[in-house]
Amino acid sequence: PQDRQLTSRLYGGDVRTRIRQELVLGVGGVKALRALGITPGVYHLNEGHSAFGPLEVIRERMHDDGMTFDDALRDVAQHTVFTTHTPVPAGHDRFDPVLVEEHLGPLRDQLGISYEQLLGLGRVEPQNGAETFCMTVLGLKLSRRANAVSQLHGIVSRRMWAHLWPWRVEEEIPIGHITNGVHVPSWLADQMRHLYDRYFPKDWANRIGEPEAWQSVFRIDPGELWETHNALKTLLLGFVRRRLSRQCRRRGESEESVERARSLLDPGILTIGFGRRFATYKRAHLLFEDLDRVAAMLNHPERPMQVIFAGKAHPKDEPGKELIRQIANLRLDPRFASRVAFVEDYEINVCRHLIQGVDVWLNNPRRPLEASGTSGQKAVLNGGLNCSVLDGWWSEAYDGTNGFAIGKGTQHVSDEITDARDGESLYRVLEEEVIPTYYRRDIDGLPRDWIRMMMHSISGLAWRFSSDRMVMDYTRSC
Ligand SMILES: *Cc1c(COP(=O)(O)O)cnc(C)c1O
Repeated sequence: PQDRQLTSRLYGGDVRTRIRQELVLGVGGVKALRALGITPGVYHLNEGHSAFGPLEVIRERMHDDGMTFDDALRDVAQHTVFTTHTPVPAGHDRFDPVLVEEHLGPLRDQLGISYEQLLGLGRVEPQNGAETFCMTVLGLKLSRRANAVSQLHGIVSRRMWAHLWPWRVEEEIPIGHITNGVHVPSWLADQMRHLYDRYFPKDWANRIGEPEAWQSVFRIDPGELWETHNALKTLLLGFVRRRLSRQCRRRGESEESVERARSLLDPGILTIGFGRRFATYKRAHLLFEDLDRVAAMLNHPERPMQVIFAGKAHPKDEPGKELIRQIANLRLDPRFASRVAFVEDYEINVCRHLIQGVDVWLNNPRRPLEASGTSGQKAVLNGGLNCSVLDGWWSEAYDGTNGFAIGKGTQHVSDEITDARDGESLYRVLEEEVIPTYYRRDIDGLPRDWIRMMMHSISGLAWRFSSDRMVMDYTRSC
């Protein structure tokens, strides 16, 4: 029963649970492949969590082929690749040497290596007794090549891990990049897919990673694209209202406020979405740095705006939970009650509704901490426009015609100054670009410039940030 509990909850356990989970994933993963009769040509360690896996493969090679540890390590690393996913320190598991020995002792005996040798594999400086055992270092040492998940994250990662290759200059650190992409059939709304089916080449669904397949988006009737988007937006607002009224009821609020929640939000209003983990570097509160200024934008008599938030914090991330509290409690302020919604229990289905129905997807992390970010890529497919800090995927995606940029792709050494500048940039881009473009209508009532941006975004970004393109990149470069 104790072992079964290990995988019942991914986050929130102690370090002891964590190292055991990683043994199940890494060593257990290799054993599971073996039990299935699968012998991979290449092992892909997706993040440090699975980095114990190659140790098990080394053990097998030593046992089956009579190799020495050093030869087996060299051989296994030749068939292993590693992807690092975040520059945020909390994303890199580190374990105390005692804990490592306690859990890996038996495997270490079979590998015929010493306590110090094992620990050295997880340390930048193998002999440094003060260094904890880092899973990312282990992954990097046990693989032939490594990649980050966007161009900018590549630069950040090479700098971050340069001390593992002290004799090389930064540009020669063997960490490249393959930018993340999303699985189009999973995130594209049916309504939008039907529209594409009518205008795109017949076989487009099999050519998702090819730019040519998406050029036909410019042939779609602008009114039809707008109608389809608005149908999805109406579905989203219905979904959010149901969730909000359920949340009111669960809190034991009056029937009156449960009823009021059913009529919150307005389909005629510019709708901004923000849904992701509430890690503090993602700065969910940035829009609310100046409450008067944002209240004026939300309640503008002719050009109002509404915002839907969703997200969870890590169980141990108290500052992240505090951010949720602040945003959820905005509903108690009459200036925000009908304009800001917080949807609880964020998960994949909530994400799907949000990214399929919003006009704008907001992303304002503290650069350069968002390694890639993928939710904005999901919004692209459905005609949502990104308004984002030039971080992660957006720093290589934004071209001035396909969405909106917050800031100029720079950062200050002080977080406070960076936050203040980005907050100001966010307000300005909303006031000067997003809101005017959305409400500028032609005689048919269509926001022509906005629809044009939707088309640029879909045609230029959907294929590039699809998992089809990503998998081809992995195939070619591994
Ligand atoms: C896509 C997705 C994410 C990742 O979003 P980011 O933009 O990378 O923060 C997180 N959670 C869920 C449920 C998702 O669907």
